[in-house]
Amino acid sequence: MRLQGKVALITGGASGIGLATVRKFVREGAKVMIADINLEQAEAAAAEIAGEGHEGSVAAVGVNVSVYAEVEAAVARTVEIFGSLDVIFNNAGIAGGRPLLEHDPAVDYEPIIRVDQDGVYYGILAAGRQFKQQGTGGVIISTSSIYGEQAAELSFTYSAAKAAVISFTRSAAYELAEYGVRAVAITPGRVGTPIINQFSEELKATFAAEQLRNKLTRPEEIADVVAFLASDEANAINGTVVSVDDGYSVFKQRLD
Ligand code: NAD
Repeated sequence: MRLQGKVALITGGASGIGLATVRKFVREGAKVMIADINLEQAEAAAAEIAGEGHEGSVAAVGVNVSVYAEVEAAVARTVEIFGSLDVIFNNAGIAGGRPLLEHDPAVDYEPIIRVDQDGVYYGILAAGRQFKQQGTGGVIISTSSIYGEQAAELSFTYSAAKAAVISFTRSAAYELAEYGVRAVAITPGRVGTPIINQFSEELKATFAAEQLRNKLTRPEEIADVVAFLASDEANAINGTVVSVDDGYSVFKQRLD
């Protein structure tokens, strides 16, 4: 119960890494707001988790993280229902992209920047303001990616947005330290969520082989790390990037 008494808002909480983290946080004693653009899926997840013996510990709110007013409203709703905000996990994200010279900026640039970059900025801003008002400190965890630290095929925009997440984290840690707030970014590698599961078995096997132990990471394994980072046990981790990529970033080529 390392998150007993804490209130968390998790964007993109209706699926994949976000949903696994909602479940983990609730098991660790937190009260959790699932914030997702897919309200139906968020409400279904909240009802299911509540029905598993966690009545009163989980709720859902619809939010498009690309719109600041909606993010601010999601923070306000969390405080209204659970009384405060202690942790925000800026995790909602979309992938995609074509080779650079085939880009239509309206398709291959703007939508990804709006969700993956603006969405994290808005989460940091809205939560930071709430933390300051409460005077209680707080933790900001944001999902970057291995692509935030490198170039990759078909990822021109996604890599830029995920690099911004790392930069936002450093600056937020600096700007919000006086209010007792910590900020941390995570860089997942290849995680078995709908983003990856939509691909062919062959491509999934290629992705798995890019990680040292030749398997996709399970969303629950990412959630375990996020729960630790949100807890007071991670109090010394601030402004930095925590790799959760099963060795992807230290691994170059498999010769067999
Ligand atoms: P997912 O598709 O399972 O979950 C993403 C969630 O975000 C969905 O519930 C979706 O409805 C929600 N969402 C999308 N746009 C939104 C918006 N505008 N406002 C609010 N919610 C929105 O994907 P996932 O793999 O769990 O991805 C979670 C995060 O992890 C993303 O930021 C992604 O870029 C990052 N990531 C994933 C992997 C991977 O291999 N799966 C690797 C590195 C980073």
